[in-house]
Formats: sequence, structure tokens, C-alpha cells
Amino acid sequence: MTAQLIDGKAFAATVRASVAEHVARLKSDHGITPGLAVVLVGEDPASQVYVRSKGKQTLEVGMKSVEHKLDAETSEADLLRLIDQLNNDDSIHGILVQLPLPKHLNEDLVINAIHPSKDVDGFHISNVGLLGTGQKSMVPCTPLGCLMMLRDYHGSLSGMDAVVIGRSNIVGKPMAQLLLNDSCTVTIAHSRTRDLADVVRRADIVVAAVGRPQMVPGDWIKPGATVIDVGINRIDKPEGGTRLVGDVDFESCAAVAGAITPVPGGVGPMTIACLLANTVTACCRANGLEEPQGLTA
Ligand code: NAD
Repeated sequence: MTAQLIDGKAFAATVRASVAEHVARLKSDHGITPGLAVVLVGEDPASQVYVRSKGKQTLEVGMKSVEHKLDAETSEADLLRLIDQLNNDDSIHGILVQLPLPKHLNEDLVINAIHPSKDVDGFHISNVGLLGTGQKSMVPCTPLGCLMMLRDYHGSLSGMDAVVIGRSNIVGKPMAQLLLNDSCTVTIAHSRTRDLADVVRRADIVVAAVGRPQMVPGDWIKPGATVIDVGINRIDKPEGGTRLVGDVDFESCAAVAGAITPVPGGVGPMTIACLLANTVTACCRANGLEEPQGLTA
């Protein structure tokens, strides 16, 4: 391996430490405790794990954590009523509705019912529009984490060629927008891209957010490029059992790249750290206080 490892686990710990410092200051100087409400509908096992982990980390940085666990049959009207209550609760600065929602609930409608200033996932249409026009917004957590790691490693990203593989609303599109806002020349590649290898070979920065195990081989990577692997895929091990891998083939990519994030321990830990960062930012904005530096885009 020649690439430098970008250690998302260690980076996330520094982000959480910075969040905890700001939380302590908000409490001591202003008597304010930032609060995050997480709403889980149904019993999806992966979602339950995420929600538990979010609640635990929220408490660890000194914030208030509220969990609303609703049954899988909850009606849209009841869910919207809860969101309305949380929108009007001054002790709650961030609201997150864990996705995916059960099929009978309209995700767009539910997400857009969250007040944009409390939308710590950054999925509300107003936040998407604000980000798209380069204005102050709540930024989706996973791309924000990727951006923080890229800025930390490179300093300025200005003028770099960036390729984002994947065009989801949660990762690919906001990632591309953030890189554009940082003056990269951005290409968004997706399932219909012709000659993906050729597109990726031009990139100084590759962000892979596809959901296909190890699909990017090392010979697609420009020597010295920075590779950010968002993918989280579980595959079978030849000797039995399973393991987590990303969307890039780590071994072959690490042999050519200048820097690379591992899976696990790369982008993953940054996502919850950025959720906490967004909650502190939302709390400061709600109270007309200066926002923490380095925790937003
Ligand atoms: P998605 O399924 O919504 O989007 C996948 C995108 O990949 C689509 O835009 C599609 O066009 C593109 N794609 C599919 N096949 C392709 C191909 N052969 N070539 C090029 N592009 C192709 O997925 P998502 O929600 O954006 O998540 C992507 C991956 O990132 C998943 O593995 C997911 O688990 C992971 N993820 C990780 C985190 C984290 O915290 N680390 C957060 C969100 C998602």
C-alpha cells in the first residue's frame, strides 16, 4: 500500500470533541442544551442499530437526546403530528426521521414537514435549494463528513477534478454540490455513465457512493488521487462468515492512490459525528449565536 490512510474513526473523534466543547460552552455561557430528536418508525434492524448509536453519541457529547419509537403501522397523520410537536418544541434543535420509512408513508412529505432549521439530515427541499445556490443550509451528514476529510487532507480543493460515482439525493448529489461550492470541476457518474473507467481515471478526487462491493479497481485510479469510499457492503468471506467492504477495491486502489478512506473506519464514523455537528449548528442559529467554526460546509 502506498496511499496515506485517511482515518475517519480518529477524525470523527476530533469532530465529536469539538462538538462537546461547543455544547459545554452553550450550557455554561447561555444555559442552553442542544437537543436532538430521532424518530424511528417500525422495526428495521439496521435502523434500530443506527438510532441506538445516534442516541448514545448524542448523550456522550452532552446534548439532550430524545427517541420516538413508533409502531410500523403508524399513520401518516400521527407521524406528521409528532413532527409538528417537535417543530414547536424549543428544547429540540434537530429532528431526524430515520429512513427508510414503511411503504405506506410518503418520505418526501414527511421530510418536508420538518422545519428546515431543524432538518439536521439536510434533506428538506429548502435546504437542498439553499445548498444548490451556495447559501447557508443544513448539509447532509455523509457528504459533509467526506468534505471535512478532503479539506483536512488537501487544504484547498480549488481547481481539482472530482468524480462522484452515484447520484442519490442522500450522498451523490449533495456531495457533488459541496465539491462544486469548493471550486472543484465536478463530474457525476452513475449507472448509465458510458466508460466509467475513463471518467474515473481523470479524477484527482474520487468519491464512490454506489452500493456495489469493490466495483472500482485500482487501474481506474489516477496515480496520487484521493479516494473516498462511501459504500458499506456486507460480503461473504471464503472461510465462512461475512465482512464489510466499500465500493472500491481497497488493496488495488491503495496501491495507486495518494490517500484513501478504509471501510470500515472511514466515512461511516464521520456520518454520526456530522449529525451532532449539525445539531450544534442548528442550536446556535436558532439562538442567534455565532456558529462553531469547522463544523459546517
Ligand atoms: P443509492 O442506491 O440511492 O444510489 C446508488 C447510486 O449508484 C445511484 O445513483 C446509481 O446511479 C449509482 N450506480 C448504481 N450502479 C452503478 C454502476 N454500475 N456504475 C455507476 N453508478 C452506479 O445509494 P446511496 O444511498 O447513495 O448509498 C450508496 C452507498 O453508500 C451504499 O453502499 C450505502 O450503504 C452507502 N452509504 C454509506 C453511508 C455512510 O455513513 N458511510 C451513508 C449513506 C450511504
